[in-house]
Amino acid sequence: MNNAIFNFEEPKNEKILCYNPGSIERTELIKEIEKIHSSEIEIPLIIGGKEVRTGKLGKVVMPHDHGHVLATYHLATEKEIKLAIDASINAHKMWSNIEWTVRASILVKAAELMSTKYRYLINASTMLGQSKNAYQAEIDSACETIDFLRYNAYFASKIYSEQPKSGFNQLNRMEFRPLEGFVFAVSPFNFTAIASNLNMSPALMGNTTIWKPATTAILSNYHLMKIFQEAGLPDGVVNFLPGSGALIGNQVLSHKDLGGIHFTGSNNTFNSLWRKISENLENYKSYPRIVGETGGKDFIFVHPSANPLEVAVGIIRGAFEYQGQKCSAASRGYIPKSLWNQIKDLLIQMTKEIKMGDPRDFTNFVNAVIDENSFNSIMKYIDFTKNATDAKIIAGGNGDKSKGYFVEPTIIETSNPFFKTMTEEIFGPVMTIYVYEDKDYEKTLQLCDATSPYALTGAIFSQDRIAVAEACNKLRYAAGNFYINDKPTGAMVGMQPFGGARGSGTNDKAGGNLNLYRWISPRTIKETFAPATDFRYPFMD
Ligand code: NAD
Repeated sequence: MNNAIFNFEEPKNEKILCYNPGSIERTELIKEIEKIHSSEIEIPLIIGGKEVRTGKLGKVVMPHDHGHVLATYHLATEKEIKLAIDASINAHKMWSNIEWTVRASILVKAAELMSTKYRYLINASTMLGQSKNAYQAEIDSACETIDFLRYNAYFASKIYSEQPKSGFNQLNRMEFRPLEGFVFAVSPFNFTAIASNLNMSPALMGNTTIWKPATTAILSNYHLMKIFQEAGLPDGVVNFLPGSGALIGNQVLSHKDLGGIHFTGSNNTFNSLWRKISENLENYKSYPRIVGETGGKDFIFVHPSANPLEVAVGIIRGAFEYQGQKCSAASRGYIPKSLWNQIKDLLIQMTKEIKMGDPRDFTNFVNAVIDENSFNSIMKYIDFTKNATDAKIIAGGNGDKSKGYFVEPTIIETSNPFFKTMTEEIFGPVMTIYVYEDKDYEKTLQLCDATSPYALTGAIFSQDRIAVAEACNKLRYAAGNFYINDKPTGAMVGMQPFGGARGSGTNDKAGGNLNLYRWISPRTIKETFAPATDFRYPFMD
């Protein structure tokens, strides 16, 4: 046994490949896309390291061509859910006791595999299964996943080296135990990187997980699971369990050994999980850790001193990349009257230039939204606006679900700062603008702060430093990630740890050390070298 104290060096963020015409990466990615497109694979559950088939099947289709099946997958029944719980409890004994450097090395190895051997596989499966263009897939499924894995190994080495002071004749130690029980990792469809991190950050700290992937992201998530295994993740540490959320949730959350949940998704789902945990409180061995990142109603606030072109580009990228299906996507804007005409013209012109379609055509900026439910829900907001008297659509406004679930990037202008699309999360390519009188800058900042229940991301565009400081101050609790002269999306691991409070979640900051602290239950150990031999104290003389 080597008794040295190991360090994992601070990594650099994974280099983002550009996929420019003629580049090697573009050729390789296209090859992989064609391979995945022309085959139909069968996806089993993976429990205790073993593939399990239930015969109860679902289909993975392409959102941009929903008649095309990429895979069939097996759905868990009560029997497999129990198997997964048992497997995670069994694996906990070994995994929670193993040297942490072994765990960290597995993460770093998985990152290496994704950076090289499987980069195109993981990107192509995200592109086809979740309808992302090449660049959006690259920054998510390759780069962010890799960054989460490498940075977390580094953050863990820092956490493990933090020790309390020892006084005279005593030694104090802090042991960073994993939670006593398994973690239920419930992942959303929109980021492959999040699905990876919801499992691998608890696993790094010595926990085992039961992973409920989103039904609409199963293809890329299955490949992640296979890569974790190839990187050396022992059987049962992560148990891959596609199936009905409600069925799996009910059974897993009522188990006494639930150590915590690591969730990213909508508020409704998170609230229902939290409620279920509250109902079961008496049955648990420990109070489960509840970590959840949920919705957003992210804003772009513009000061009269802002540069109109920078604002327009920030809105187009911030609101429409990945069809607005980012929790951080801009969806409401506050623009001063003096700049509105100029910004409006730019927005209308840019929206006209956006190409929408299949991600295999690299000229498309916008692809399809994830499924029919999502399409219908977004179109309801657009139709509501068409019938409203206090709002109008100034760009886009159409949808077509005949072949794929396509919604045009849509811009709404409203005179009502509390208009439905200014307050509710739509999770689609819809941006609403409220135009304010220049003299009302301060008042409108307060309005922005009080408009929506969410507080995830937000941006201020301004050339005036004093105005920026004022926005920073007035909007202090309106966003967990705040941007100055930048779009509110695209947080990078190690640079902008991510998360929000209020209705946006528990703000445990994925991509930073704060998240890792949630997966440990420290034990303090004090040893006295000179134990007392007399119960009386000198002051009693
Ligand atoms: P969702 O809530 O519909 O689903 C999330 C996961 O929960 C899925 O795996 C789903 O199958 C599962 N689920 C649903 N009901 C369940 C139940 N009763 N028990 C257990 N699991 C259950 O969310 P989604 O549509 O996949 O993702 C979109 C949402 O995620 C948006 O609201 C978005 O803002 C949010 N999001 C937030 C962040 C963030 O960091 N704040 C990041 C990404 C996405």
